[in-house]
Amino acid sequence: MLQRANHILKSIFGFEQFRPSQENIVNEILDGKDALVLMPTGGGKSLCYQIPAIVREGVGVVVSPLIALMQDQVDALKLLGVNAAFLNSSLDANEAREVEQKLRNNQLDILYIAPERLLTERVLRLLDESTLALFAIDEAHCVSQWGHDFRPEYQRLKHLHERFPNVPRVALTATADKRTREEIISQLQLHDASIFIDSFDRPNIRYTITDGNNPKQRLWNFLQTNHANDAGIVYCLSRKKVEAIAEWLCQQGRVALPYHAGLSAHVRQNNQRRFLREEGMIIVATIAFGMGIDKPDVRFVAHLSLPKSVEAYYQETGRAGRDGLAANAWMAYGLQDVITLRQFSQNSNAAEVHKQVEHNKLEAMLGLCELITCRRSALLEYFDEISDLSCGNCDNCLNPPQNWDATKAAQMALSCVYRTEQRFGVNYIVDILLGKKDERITRNGHERISTFGIGKEFSVAQWRVIMRQLIAIGLLEIDMERHGALRLTEKCRPVLKGEQSLQLRKTRKEAQTGTSSKSKLSVRPQDEPLWEALRALRLSLAEKAGTPPYVIFHDATLHEMLRVRPVTKAQMSEIMGVGVQKLARYGDMFLEEIARYPLPELLDNNLSDTVNETLTLHQQGNDVESIGRMRGLKVSTIYTHFSEAIEMGLLDVKQILDISEQEYKEVIFLIETNTDNEGRLKPVFEALEGEYDYGQLRCIQASI
Ligand SMILES: [Zn+2]
Repeated sequence: MLQRANHILKSIFGFEQFRPSQENIVNEILDGKDALVLMPTGGGKSLCYQIPAIVREGVGVVVSPLIALMQDQVDALKLLGVNAAFLNSSLDANEAREVEQKLRNNQLDILYIAPERLLTERVLRLLDESTLALFAIDEAHCVSQWGHDFRPEYQRLKHLHERFPNVPRVALTATADKRTREEIISQLQLHDASIFIDSFDRPNIRYTITDGNNPKQRLWNFLQTNHANDAGIVYCLSRKKVEAIAEWLCQQGRVALPYHAGLSAHVRQNNQRRFLREEGMIIVATIAFGMGIDKPDVRFVAHLSLPKSVEAYYQETGRAGRDGLAANAWMAYGLQDVITLRQFSQNSNAAEVHKQVEHNKLEAMLGLCELITCRRSALLEYFDEISDLSCGNCDNCLNPPQNWDATKAAQMALSCVYRTEQRFGVNYIVDILLGKKDERITRNGHERISTFGIGKEFSVAQWRVIMRQLIAIGLLEIDMERHGALRLTEKCRPVLKGEQSLQLRKTRKEAQTGTSSKSKLSVRPQDEPLWEALRALRLSLAEKAGTPPYVIFHDATLHEMLRVRPVTKAQMSEIMGVGVQKLARYGDMFLEEIARYPLPELLDNNLSDTVNETLTLHQQGNDVESIGRMRGLKVSTIYTHFSEAIEMGLLDVKQILDISEQEYKEVIFLIETNTDNEGRLKPVFEALEGEYDYGQLRCIQASI
């Protein structure tokens, strides 16, 4: 049976092989056993039940609470040639009957169904009469009363086992924590199921957490540098902020749509739909957005507010890069976030125990922000996963933060809080440290205390960063019952007494926090025309089919087409994600498009992107000076780019330099006799008295 599964993987889904964890899971279900699968989003969860559902006799019943997603999931499967359907409240009576008829006639491989519908006597009886391949219980964490996605009807799913004891069940979730896992097992009676826990690492996501001023502007810089045309999500805490940021992004020239619980269902649906179907769209949302979004090509998730917990951060950032291609999780945070969130949890009506839990979760999140070591390994450790010490793909690994000895500054701040009787908030304390004489300070007589004006060596902004870190690491706490007054904690005693020194992280300069261009999807400059053409073709096909573009082909598939540039249908069928159905349906159209954009010999190379950008402009007939102007580079740099192509034998030096044979020979002679051992051209340059710049000389040298 596994052989059949492999065949289906290739012919229907267009993948060469299973990932190791997928194969084990598929095997288990094919054997008719139960399984519990914990796999991060983007880990290929759905294949784990889709393939066994196709291979095993009968229909695979997939239980999912995400009604909005079912249509797209079923459309995608139908495009692959799988007999799939769904049953939920969005169908009218006739449509539902049609699906039921197919079920009776054994014409379905996969049936998606909402839990409340599945548990009706009518549907259960229908299933009694059908051959069942398996039950897949997706989003299985919905069974957990403790989670925020709790659905009571999920707890009733345990009856499936009683009614259909011989049908294998597989429960799947992307939630990692242990408590939820135990609840799934007990609630769904999966005590005999094998448990598969995949690594929760998402190596393609680059984590960056930035602090400092003007988060809005920093968001814009981040978008401009990394995601000028990409789709992504921006999370904000409040509805008001969502509206404001969406509007602002639109004014800046991006298409950005708001999403929050205060909008009408119609507007929300419409905005979500546009986000899924159109390209390059930004959705600005509260955390109300996300559950049930399965868009694989979200290239960034940006947080303008601090998530409430590490789990929430992981879950929200996890919506980026589900297709496995590079994606960014970027966050801006500051003092105000810390204060607002503290207020939230202290003012909530929740029971004391619950408040304490929330408080601890927030502490862990703050810890992640102020961390000076690898973010990814801290994130994974939070989920009990041991990982390498540094991942090389987070801001702290790429740009290790600097520390400074903040003992003295902390002592100033802490004693200032003490001397004002722990009755004042951050702004007031900072004013005293800076020696600002305002009416309130004078009235309180605080211009006479010893800490008045002792902190003038730091600016307001610097003090706010220091205060934030003191709060974040728990030396100060905020008393909400007293309007945000700062209070000393037990922890600050050794620092105040000078028994312990304190290291704080320096705020990074903005230039350093920018993610490198490596995180962009690397389309080579010479591939860009074809890339745009393939995307346009995909979009027009998607519009015709009424599906999101990624249902036609994922970005990863288009990337492989760029790299391989298939000519025949056989070559096309080797591309990842091109199965039999899609080959038949779209193969010719994409082959034609690829043929329309042949790669010139000059550009068929492995040289760097910047060199190829120059070569592409050269190919289009631009001369050296205009290429320099267009790219804002020195002419000598452009010549140096050419020299690399000359060295590879892609260009002839005479095509580039207007030089007579005579002169050429003279320069060659000089190079051969005059360069020093390291091949430096300085002596030649000097001997020629600057007649040729270094770039030109490099071209000639490369031609030898
Ligand atoms: Zn790292």
